[in-house]
Order: sequence, then C-alpha cells, then structure tokens
Amino acid sequence: MLLNQPLKQKLLELLSPEQVLTDELDLKFYSYDSSFHAKLNRFFPEAVVFPRSTQEVSAVMRLAYEHNISVTPRGAGTGETCGCVAVQGGIIMDLSPWDTIEEVDVANMQVFVRPGVVHANLNTHLEKYGLFFPPDPGSSRMCTVGGMVSNNSSGLRAVKYGTTEQYILGLEVVLPNGDVIITGGQNSRAIKNVSGMNLTKLFVGAEGTLGVITKIRLRVWPKPKGRGLAMAVFDNLEEAPQAVLDVYRGGILPSGIEILDDSAIKAINMYKPEINLPNAEAILLFEVDGNPAGVEWEGQQIKEIVSRRAIKVEWATEPERIKSLWQGRSVVATAAARIRPDGSRIFAGEDISVPLNKVTECLRRIKKMAKEYGVAVVNYGHIGDGNVHTAPVINLDNQAEVEQVKKLTDAIHRLAIELGGATTGEHGVGAVRACYATAEHGEALKVMHRIKHTLDPTGIMNPGKLLPPEGDDYSA
Ligand SMILES: Cc1cc2nc3c(=O)[nH]c(=O)nc-3n(C[C@H](O)[C@H](O)[C@H](O)COP(=O)(O)OP(=O)(O)OC[C@H]3O[C@@H](n4cnc5c(N)ncnc54)[C@H](O)[C@@H]3O)c2cc1C
Repeated sequence: MLLNQPLKQKLLELLSPEQVLTDELDLKFYSYDSSFHAKLNRFFPEAVVFPRSTQEVSAVMRLAYEHNISVTPRGAGTGETCGCVAVQGGIIMDLSPWDTIEEVDVANMQVFVRPGVVHANLNTHLEKYGLFFPPDPGSSRMCTVGGMVSNNSSGLRAVKYGTTEQYILGLEVVLPNGDVIITGGQNSRAIKNVSGMNLTKLFVGAEGTLGVITKIRLRVWPKPKGRGLAMAVFDNLEEAPQAVLDVYRGGILPSGIEILDDSAIKAINMYKPEINLPNAEAILLFEVDGNPAGVEWEGQQIKEIVSRRAIKVEWATEPERIKSLWQGRSVVATAAARIRPDGSRIFAGEDISVPLNKVTECLRRIKKMAKEYGVAVVNYGHIGDGNVHTAPVINLDNQAEVEQVKKLTDAIHRLAIELGGATTGEHGVGAVRACYATAEHGEALKVMHRIKHTLDPTGIMNPGKLLPPEGDDYSA
C-alpha cells in the first residue's frame, strides 16, 4: 500500500517534524545509492524517517506492519546494489544520523555502537585505546557500521582479519512487526558464546530484509605496531596468482594481497603520471602487519619467495616508502575512468569472487569478454581471497554502450558461478544480483524464503532485495 496523507500524519505523531521528510526534492536524495542500477533508474520513497531510539524504530515498524507499508533501512547509501533504495516505494529509514559510540569496554575488548557510526570514525576513536575494528572497506570514511553489518562488508585485509561477521558479538534488532530482540545473549559480554541458535549470523549480511539493526556489540582487536609492504612486478599474469599460493605455502599470512593488472597499471599512470608504475602484466602488493620483528622476518620471506616468479620485488617498512608504493592501489578506483576520456566508471559486475586457483582464468576471460562486448574495463582486487574488482568504463549517454555493458556484467556474474565462485565477495546482492540466487544457491533458496516468511510474513522489510521473487526460475 502506498503512503497516504493520514499515514504521513501518523508518522508525525510518532516522530518530530524534523524526523520526517516528504518533500519531493528531499526524497530525490534518497532515490539512489552508488550503483549503476540507480544511475539508470530512480526509485523514490514516499517518506524518509530519522528515528533516534529503539523505541522510535519500533513504533515506525509497528505502524508500517499494521498498514502493510514497505520499510527500507539506509546507512550512508554507499552500497553498490540498490540495497538501501526503496525499489518498491514506502518508507526509507535513515539510520545514519544515529551515530553514537555508546561504550568502549576495554577490559572485555568490545564496543557498543548505534548503527550510524561511520567506520573510520570508530577506528579513530578506538586508536586512543590501542584497539581497532579490522574490516576495512574502501568506503571507510563514509559507510556506517550498520551498513557494514547488513552487507557483511570487508576489504583488502579480509585475507588475515576476515569479514565483518567475525566481529559481531551481538545485535539489537527491531523485527518487521516492531518487536525488539537482542542476539548473542541479552546480558552477555562474553567473547566466546555457543549458547542458543546463532541469530546474530542470520542478521549479518541479511541486507536489511529481516529487521532493523539498532545496536551493535562489536569485538575489537589490539592494533598491530608494525607494518610493511612488498611490491612485486610480473611480466606474465599467470605468475602472480602462483606467487600468492607460494607465499601461503611458505607459511606466511599477509594482512592483504592486492593485484593490479595491466589495465589498472595503465589507468593509474594516466591519472597520476608521477606514480610511474612499471609497465607489466601485473603488480602484486603484499601487506604484512604485526610485531615489528615478525613483520621484518615475514617481509624478507615474501621477498625471497616471490622473487622466484617476479621480475622485481621491493620490500619496505619505512612509512613514507610504504605510502609511495601503496599510492597506485589507493587511487585505482578513481583512476579507472581515465582509460577513456569520455567515460565514467560504473559499479556493475564489480565484485565477483572466485577460487584462488581460478583467478588467472577469471582475469583472462573477463578481458576476452570485455573485448567481445566492446567495453573498456580495468581489473584490480583482493587477489589474496580471490575477490576480483572489474571496473567497466562507458559513456553513460550512449544507449548502445549501456546495453553492451549490461550483457558484459551479466556474463561476468555467470562466469563467477561457472568457476565455482560467487557473484559478490563483499558488496552484496541488493536488487541487482538477486536474479542469480537460484543458480548460486539451488534448494537452499527455499529455506531462505521460509526464514524470510517467518520473520517478515507480510514482506514489508526491504522488499525486492537479496532474494528473487518466490518461485521464479532465474537459473536458465
Ligand atoms: C568508493 C566505494 C568503495 C567501496 N569499497 C568497499 C569495500 O572495499 N568493501 C566492501 O565490502 N564494500 C565496499 N563498498 C560498498 C559499501 O560501501 C559497503 O557495502 C558499506 O558497508 C555500505 O554501508 P552504508 O552505510 O553505505 O550502507 P547502505 O548502502 O546505506 O546500505 C547497505 C545495506 O544495508 C542495509 N542497512 C543499512 N543500515 C541498516 C540497519 N541499521 N539495519 C538493517 N539494515 C541496514 C540497507 O538496507 C542496505 O541493504 C564501497 C562503496 C564505495 C562507494
């Protein structure tokens, strides 16, 4: 049901006027996120609300439940999949202003935050305690912890530190009918806990389809004191993934292993010629952290192991030199658009994940397909866990190019499934990748639908995301 005037009035009875937006211009800001999908289609909500307490979230959900109105939770809107966009109208619940760090429990190595806390701000706050929250999305300075939990986000250090889910000890969640639950033990401050079904994991990565996360109990870690970086240059792409496996076989677990292929190297050198990366088929960056003596030892091991395949390896522990070696990787997302003067980088087919022993085949086939579809692409990513980032660069005003890139990105998603990987390694499913769910999950999809029905019987919670409509067969 669409939101009508009496219902808007009811919202204003639950919240103060500055917590409810209904003007068209205001709603426009909420009609998109960072995805290509949102560039092509705008989805206007009928209202945006800013609850600032669990009680307010619960009251809005009760109203929505009673009147069968869709509710879409939203953090900073940096998602790449239309996850936080109201694709079926209704209410957007913007949690980003609710950004309180409620408690740092140093003795128990955990923090309690409200969902709107920005990731980088949390880590700045934790620094004074010598602690950190390890997952590190590229959007760290913008994205919210609530969005990270809902997308199970990660970043280049997932190789060693894993994804957000590993750090979530418990959640406060408002269910679609307005009920409030606490997962992970209602009074628990334990780090280890196998009591009860693991409801925390159910909500992590559920992309706001099962409830609204209103409080997060996060595990934090001591911040490592040492850091080093090895840059390795390869004249043959095949050697780079092999070098990664060699390092693992050598008993070393770097905190991050990144790849830039020749397209990324070219884009970076065009964007900032002063970075001056060597022309090569691939560059790998191995980041190591830990105690300074251990870091130095591991760095020397990596240098020795990787030199057997690379044409050049440099190891650095000096902060200025690390920064300089890291420069290319840090600008690649922006630099990608430079490979053609009239092009824009789009986020579609940008986040597939493949088994480590399929990375070379994956990159070669993406390059070949891009050529066949006539689309310029730049490839980089977290090679240490097989998470490949492909950045298509197109002229968005050219409809023929838009159609070609849709075909290419569909083929990239299907390639991931064919190679035994996943259509998304970290950015999530949202409205754009639900169509691959049957091919990816088979019969398990039916169980996902049953869970959804149980928690959200009327289907008001972020509809049109994560799961395809029940009964649809997209596997063909
Ligand atoms: C430049 C750039 C770089 C990026 N790099 C990375 C990266 O390295 N790794 C990575 O994983 N992602 C990356 N992303 C994607 C995105 O930033 C992450 O998925 C991020 O965690 C989303 O956070 P957000 O606050 O913007 O959430 P939003 O985009 O606002 O929402 C994301 C999803 O979470 C749901 N949601 C938000 N808050 C709540 C809540 N309180 N309760 C229930 N559901 C909620 C929404 O409904 C939606 O489904 C990048 C994006 C950009 C633009």
